[in-house]
Amino acid sequence: MNPNRPIPRSSVMEIEAYVPGKSGAPGAMKVYKLSSNETPLGPSPKAVAAFREAAGSLELYPDGAATRLRVAIGERYGLDPQRIVCGNGSDDLLHLIASAFVGEGDEGVFTEHGFLVYRIAILAAGGSPVVVPEKNLTADVDAILAAVSPRTKIVFIANPNNPTGTYLPISEVKRLHAGLAPHVVLVLDHAYAEYVTRDDYANGLELANAHPNIVVTHTFSKIHGLASLRIGWAYGHPVVCDAVNRIRGPFNVNGAALEAGIAAIGDIDHVNAAIAHNDHWRSWLEAQIAELGLKVTPSVGNFVLMHFPDEPGKSAADADAFLSARGLVLRRVSAYGLPNALRMTVGAEEPNRLVVEALTEFVAGKL
Ligand SMILES: *Cc1c(COP(=O)(O)O)cnc(C)c1O
Repeated sequence: MNPNRPIPRSSVMEIEAYVPGKSGAPGAMKVYKLSSNETPLGPSPKAVAAFREAAGSLELYPDGAATRLRVAIGERYGLDPQRIVCGNGSDDLLHLIASAFVGEGDEGVFTEHGFLVYRIAILAAGGSPVVVPEKNLTADVDAILAAVSPRTKIVFIANPNNPTGTYLPISEVKRLHAGLAPHVVLVLDHAYAEYVTRDDYANGLELANAHPNIVVTHTFSKIHGLASLRIGWAYGHPVVCDAVNRIRGPFNVNGAALEAGIAAIGDIDHVNAAIAHNDHWRSWLEAQIAELGLKVTPSVGNFVLMHFPDEPGKSAADADAFLSARGLVLRRVSAYGLPNALRMTVGAEEPNRLVVEALTEFVAGKL
């Protein structure tokens, strides 16, 4: 007998909806949002001008193929635009890639403290998530390869990872890829790649050129400061692009986003300024927080993960409440299996200094 109401697929009901970083701090005079890894520099002024200009033609459908944006990205990175697909944020693309390659009975692999969207995308596609332990809050290639089974269709790695800020050097990414069967899709989520200034890191685009089963995703939400407009892009083999193009929304990137994205990708000075700001203040924050006796995981992204004792009055929850009361909104990361840590986005000078001052008071016990 048919049920008397609609019944979602069982894997859909296993999903816990993603909870974004808090934006408010009730009672605080002024709020500094350091909970969603947004850039303190804002978008390029050229992107803002292009966005305003787009207001003149809102009645028109956008170019569903995002051709000019793909060409602009291709020029910036020396890539074939045919191998690029744009999405409504890279979250859109992570879902589309999972839907294209994972189905009932298939498995998708990601790591213990990996980005939560992978779990959601795998379950939404009908697959089963397989969560792999990490070592020192870093993806462990041997453990990932050991978890791969004949049912594995996809492996997601954020490199650098959010919320830990740790990364895999290119040699480890190659070793991971070499251990996967050629039909298993390896998604390299490079949302923070532009921020990384390590010699042993690579942006993965060359690797994706050489291997049909590697897909690299990028976003305009982080270093380009266009999170509100929702623009992401994926670079991969034509087989992957073709699959995603079949199932994506026909106009998944809106017209204003296309124009702003084209302007943003061309503003290299703005990106370089963001990298310089981030390098300076991330090292400052890491040093200052460590000096307070709190453990900080070394980060290559635009955020730092700090760890608190699991003791009443000194815990991450207590620190979060203490900071929030002063309008300093950080991110709790219990949902990532890190109940004793807080993630802080590298902000502008003022909030960075305010957080360190507040943490100094907190640690000294001046509650
Ligand atoms: C922020 C973030 C993204 C970007 O998401 P968008 O949908 O492009 O805004 C992707 N992956 C990770 C790991 C992130 O932290």
